[in-house]
Amino acid sequence: MDRFYLVCTYLLAAVLGLCVGSFLNVLIYRLPRGMNIAKPGSHCTVCREPIRWYDNIPVISYLVLRGKCRHCGTKISPRYMIVELLNCLFWVACVWRFYAYGWGVLIVCSITVSMLLTAFFTDLEHMMIPDSVNGIIGLCAIAAFILQICGIGTEVSWQDRLWGLLAGGGSFLLIYFIVLLVIRREGLGLGDVKLMTGVGLLLGWRSTVLAIAFACILASFYALAKKAGRGKREEKSLKTDEETAEEKERKNEFPFAPFLTTAAAVCLFFGEQICTAYTNLFL
Ligand SMILES: [Zn+2]
Repeated sequence: MDRFYLVCTYLLAAVLGLCVGSFLNVLIYRLPRGMNIAKPGSHCTVCREPIRWYDNIPVISYLVLRGKCRHCGTKISPRYMIVELLNCLFWVACVWRFYAYGWGVLIVCSITVSMLLTAFFTDLEHMMIPDSVNGIIGLCAIAAFILQICGIGTEVSWQDRLWGLLAGGGSFLLIYFIVLLVIRREGLGLGDVKLMTGVGLLLGWRSTVLAIAFACILASFYALAKKAGRGKREEKSLKTDEETAEEKERKNEFPFAPFLTTAAAVCLFFGEQICTAYTNLFL
C-alpha cells in the first residue's frame, strides 16, 4: 500500500509540476513588467487574442502548435515549454528526495525550487528578481525552520539554518556594500542579497557555503567564455568604434542569479551529502 501511495505521489507531482510550470511562465513574463498576474487571462502578446484552454495545455499545446500562435503565427519562445518540463522534473525529484521527510518538507521544497526557477529566468531576461519571488522563498525558509523546531524537518538542524541565514544574507550584504564603495555603483543587485538570505535559512550554512562557491565557479567560467567569445568577434570585425569605459563595463555585466539559483537547487537536493562526503575525506 505504501508503494501505491508513493507511485500516486510521483504521478501527482509530475502533473501538478507541469501545471505550476505553466503558471511560472505567467510570473516570469508579468512580474518584471509590473503586470497583474491574474488579469487579463492568457493571451498572445502580439495579436492579443485570448488563448483557449485547449491551446494552453502544458507542453502538448506547444508541440501541437509547433511553437506558434494559432491566430497570428508569431513564434512562441521555447522557454515556455522548457520551464514547464523543468518544473515537472524538479517536482518529481522533490518526491524522490523529500518524500521520506513528510508532506510539510516536500511541499516547502517543491515551492522553493519553482521560485528558484522563476528567479533564474526573470534575472536572465530582465536582470531582476521580483520581491514577491524572494518573499515566497523567504516564507518557505521560515516554514522549513518552524518544521525543524517541531522535529519534522530534514537532517539540517535549526541552528545550522540560522547560521545559514548569516552565511547567505550576511556575506552578500557585506559584498554588496564593499562593491558599492569600490566601484561607486551597484555591482551586486539587492535582489541577490534577498535571495541568498532566504536560501541561507533554507539550506543551512554548510550547503549555503557550498552553493556560493559553486555559483562563483559557474559564473567565472561563463565570464571567461564570454570574454573569449568577444575577443574573437572584435578581431573579426575591424570596427574602430571608440567605446567609452562605461560602455565596456556595461558589456561585462551579466546576471548573477541564474548561477546562484542553479547552485542553490543542486545544494537543496545534494548539498548535505556532498558536505558529508567531503568532511569524511578528512576525518
Ligand atoms: Zn498571436
